[in-house]
Amino acid sequence: MSVHYITTDRSERYHTGEDCPAFQAGRAGNAAQGIEPRPLVHLTPDEAQHVRQTPCPECCTA
Ligand SMILES: [Zn+2]
Repeated sequence: MSVHYITTDRSERYHTGEDCPAFQAGRAGNAAQGIEPRPLVHLTPDEAQHVRQTPCPECCTA
């Protein structure tokens, strides 16, 4: 279990890590459209409760 989550300011989801397939797919999709990757935002589990982003269904299922 990881101690923090990652997201970006443009993302709709937060993830347990950069190796999440959904996160990777989002990054690849952006790159394909010529969109620069957004800087990662690191969230503690506590912070994750209060952000706009919602848990990623791929990696945040307990
Ligand atoms: Zn994820």
